[in-house]
Amino acid sequence: MKPATFDYLRPASATEAIDALGTHPDSKILAGGQSLIPMMNMRLARPAVLVDIGAIAELQGIAADGSLRIGATTRQSDVLAHPAVRRRWPLVAAALRHVGHPATRARGTVGGTIAHGEPAAEVPAVMLALDATFTVQARGGTRPVAADAFFLGHYTTVLDDDELLTSVEVPDTGAAHWGFAEVARRHGDYALTGAAVRLRTDDDGVVTDARVALFAVAARPLRSAAAEERLLGSRLGDAGAAGDAGQVALTDVGDDTVADDSFVSATYRREATAAMVRRAVLEAATNPRGEA
Ligand code: FAD
Repeated sequence: MKPATFDYLRPASATEAIDALGTHPDSKILAGGQSLIPMMNMRLARPAVLVDIGAIAELQGIAADGSLRIGATTRQSDVLAHPAVRRRWPLVAAALRHVGHPATRARGTVGGTIAHGEPAAEVPAVMLALDATFTVQARGGTRPVAADAFFLGHYTTVLDDDELLTSVEVPDTGAAHWGFAEVARRHGDYALTGAAVRLRTDDDGVVTDARVALFAVAARPLRSAAAEERLLGSRLGDAGAAGDAGQVALTDVGDDTVADDSFVSATYRREATAAMVRRAVLEAATNPRGEA
């Protein structure tokens, strides 16, 4: 199918893009188009105006001095290829390898995969595990939004229709331990479930700080406080603690579990989630830590 007719704007600045969103109520931002265009072709989205932000230089780029700052329209493939990301934020790189395919990553943007609000997307969960902050710009100015407060449900975020996600800020995670695990029907498909884990330990390998983020099991990415609590005080690589963390993570998913769908049952998704948490936690004991 082909999209319904639409007008096309290509603003040169974030301010211009925001003005266009405010002027045209039935408009949508176009970034890499790897989600929006298929939805338009299937007539699942029928914006009257497309505001293409691809030419806005201020939204592009990666800065990695101290924290990691990624401009919203930075291509997923550029972040994956960035040496500092691979060295200091290996969890980001690990997740990006699971996002679609090289061809989609060459067009898809980091801001798009966050703003899209797809529950099975890997990058949003990693941003929760790394305590990232998103900068959102509107006509009245900009506001920071913690990743943990950004996602509300299926394709639903705190973004208003006239707001633009301009950048992502990931704190310096130092020499943290990290693990990432997902199950998908084929590599590059959306995950059926998955977990992203970031752990800090003391000199004896005892966990002093834990983040466990789940994706694809509920209507939005979510952190599991119960799993994080279980890991605190445990020894890195402790299989019993890893297994317990997987089980208690399900208590944080609760009734929010994605129902049976054409791919898998809710029961499978829950059991696989517990296994992915366990696998990511155990992987954190052996993965080379990010550089401080
Ligand atoms: P677009 O498609 O241009 O936009 C997506 C949505 O976000 C739109 O509603 C748009 O208005 C909004 N938006 C975009 N940028 C902004 C912004 N800066 N501010 C406010 N709103 C914005 N993704 C995964 O996570 N995991 C996968 O395994 C995966 N597999 C894929 C396989 C295929 C074959 C394809 C085609 C896509 C796949 N994707 C997957 C999706 C891909 O990662 C998309 O790039 C991503 O979901 C959206 O990014 P985009 O830049 O293409 O955004």
